[in-house]
Amino acid sequence: MSTALHAIPVPQQGARKGSGWIYLDAAASTVMDTSVVARVQQVSADLNANPSSVHSGGVGASMVIEEARQAIARRLGCEPDELVFTSCATESNNLALKGLVLADPRPSRHLVVSAIEHPSVLDTARWLEERGLAELTVLPVDREARVDPEEVARSLRPETVLVSVMHANNEVGSIQPLEAIAEVCHAAGVLLHVDACQGFLKAPLDVAGWGLDLVTLSSHKVHGPKGVGALAIRRGLTVTPLLHGGGHESGLRSGTLNAPGIAGFAEAVSRYTPEDIARMSSLRSGLLDWLQERVPGLRVNGPTHGSLCSILNVSIPGWTGKDLAKALDRRGLLVSASSACHATRLTPSHVLLAMGCSRDEADEALRISLGRFTTEAHLVALRQALTEILGDSR
Ligand code: PLP
Repeated sequence: MSTALHAIPVPQQGARKGSGWIYLDAAASTVMDTSVVARVQQVSADLNANPSSVHSGGVGASMVIEEARQAIARRLGCEPDELVFTSCATESNNLALKGLVLADPRPSRHLVVSAIEHPSVLDTARWLEERGLAELTVLPVDREARVDPEEVARSLRPETVLVSVMHANNEVGSIQPLEAIAEVCHAAGVLLHVDACQGFLKAPLDVAGWGLDLVTLSSHKVHGPKGVGALAIRRGLTVTPLLHGGGHESGLRSGTLNAPGIAGFAEAVSRYTPEDIARMSSLRSGLLDWLQERVPGLRVNGPTHGSLCSILNVSIPGWTGKDLAKALDRRGLLVSASSACHATRLTPSHVLLAMGCSRDEADEALRISLGRFTTEAHLVALRQALTEILGDSR
């Protein structure tokens, strides 16, 4: 039986000494399952040879990687030889966008991305645009952070190489109508890339059925180790590699593969069950009901119905998300003001702005995100802390 490592000693000043964090920031990164830690340690200790070596140590490490590839591909719904391992989702997104644009021989190319993509998609698309490698259309979203498939259809041109729309948004939890978007793209002969970092294992994703062409995954968003990502690339697509060298991953991503990390990723994937999703959904809706009942003027940022089970983004009048997150941190509860990406940037969240929030409204956003190990007791502690903080401020 594996147990969660959710009670970690608190190293920072200002947090309660001797207790543990209550971690409610799973959209930023997740805690590793003990079985994942054990698998990473075991592969590190037993099979630390270079997986490309032809001796038995290398063959053993390579077998570990191929087993993991099969297991992850099965869960994702693609073929094992369509899955390329990378170092993170940021790399996978760069490979998808740059790799397809650079491989397209046409003299002019066009790229479409949604306004709420992660910076690893948005900034990559802008980088391509700035260098004259592709023209760029950024699609708007509605108040609930959803892309309209008709808007996608209107944006397409004969020279459109790729549309990139994420599966579930990392800040507000909106799930995109990918099946309809894929239909629109394919009717026009355009490829669709989906950043599925947040929604993989938590929301329906039918890669083969919907005909998704490229799909990005990240291990550390699903309780696996950091430093491992993947990009599923539909068989037959031509992608220009970003890293050249030893020709690993069928020449698409040179660099010695991280066998312990990849094995840990597969172990983490195997641990996700439908019960986990049901539990997270019920915890999220219980918390939302409580907040709506107890916090006058509460605003929910994101979809009212059909949100990802793990993300709840709210604004509490009179508080910036940052101040509220700090006040909760002082009580040992870790949440985010919007997203980890914006924590280091002094700009309001591009996702909330795209949803039509004002700058002040965007500054008020607080993201609470749940993982497989979040319990009712954690949310009781959150409710108590919020009651104290909001009570003190009145
Ligand atoms: N895409 C989305 C939707 C994310 O939420 C994140 C991380 O926050 C990333 C990409 C980047 O993931 P990684 O840390 O694996 O590069």
